[in-house]
Amino acid sequence: MPAGRPAADVLAELAAMTEGDADWRGGRTFSLVYNADDDELTGLHDEVGRRFLAENALNPFAFPSLGRMEHEVVDVAKALVHLEGGGGTMSSGGTESIFLAVHTAREWARERGIERPAIVTARSAHPAFAKACHYLDVEQRRVGLRDDLRADPAAMAAALDERVALLVASAPCYPFGVIDPVPEIASLAGERGLLCHVDACLGGWLLPFWEELGEPVPPWDFRVEGVTSLSADVHKYGYAFKGASVVLYRDAEMVRRQWFLFDDWPGGLYGSATTAGTRPAAPIAGAWATIRHLGADGFLAKARVVRDTTRRFQEGIAAIDGLSVTGAPDLSVLEIGSDTLDIGAVGDVMDECGWHLDRQQGGLHLMVSPYHARIVDEFLSDLARAAATDRTGSGAGGTYGAVPPS
Ligand SMILES: *Cc1c(COP(=O)(O)O)cnc(C)c1O
Repeated sequence: MPAGRPAADVLAELAAMTEGDADWRGGRTFSLVYNADDDELTGLHDEVGRRFLAENALNPFAFPSLGRMEHEVVDVAKALVHLEGGGGTMSSGGTESIFLAVHTAREWARERGIERPAIVTARSAHPAFAKACHYLDVEQRRVGLRDDLRADPAAMAAALDERVALLVASAPCYPFGVIDPVPEIASLAGERGLLCHVDACLGGWLLPFWEELGEPVPPWDFRVEGVTSLSADVHKYGYAFKGASVVLYRDAEMVRRQWFLFDDWPGGLYGSATTAGTRPAAPIAGAWATIRHLGADGFLAKARVVRDTTRRFQEGIAAIDGLSVTGAPDLSVLEIGSDTLDIGAVGDVMDECGWHLDRQQGGLHLMVSPYHARIVDEFLSDLARAAATDRTGSGAGGTYGAVPPS
């Protein structure tokens, strides 16, 4: 390890290091950062992050403020998704919320004598389910989509047997932004006494306001009978900084299956409700502060900007020769596809213009956040130019998640 250096030098080094990073502040990224376009909120995040760097949420008895904040964030989330009673916790993100829901389902199944349970998801379900199943030794049965790119309840029904514990619906799915038929999937689960998880990581903090704006929103939350758990990321459309999600259960008993208690250790009784041991406090305080600051009116105002901007993107894309929006997205997340153009080449030109569009199997992925209202025209004119550029794409598989080069 080299010798230490003054903080100012380290900061200068950091500044230089980030020069090649994506310009999210300028609205050039679409899924990795949710830019709320709100300087006051950004300032609040800076302060709260600083204030809660040292605290540890592993033990809420030492820091009751964190226990209280987590409780209040969970309560707000519960009200948003129409959950009365029940329970839940915060987690570090969508992947952990999904991990916890799959884990509680596994424990629930094992209590019923199913040693290696299975879950049924659509092909469009987030890879976090595959990851959770991989870690937890649960089988994932992935079934095809309907023509409208939504999960196919008939295909799910065909995948059921006595080992299946949990059915999954997305609200919406990440690749196409469409909401799965939650009532059909939940009733399929309910009829057989199975669990049903709604992955609202993406939509959980936006759909309630979308509905309030008068937009058509198909049933997706705890108002749907048979939905037993739900995940919703505060660090996406909740505009909190990263490390904040919630997982909720209709039955408070399910939360107990999330706990890990260990009492045979010289260090004493160890208990925790989520996967982390030492648990960062800043994301909890950050989520709490964001919700307090924005409030219902703030979330509604941001939802309006996101909706209006999404329309401008959709209309602009549809007007470009050769490009189209895939399917009929329910929200502010969509894929740009083409039947005639090399969409990889379009992506290459957009990359050269400094945009960071994620590449999917069938097109380019776009996720609208409030800041994008400022760049939509520039984006669309670059996109039109990119579509008119006649060349073959590098096909370079830019991705949403990746492992670092070694
Ligand atoms: C983002 C996302 C996840 C995973 O959340 P992370 O916070 O990235 O771990 C799961 N499901 C959907 C639909 C998502 O959009």
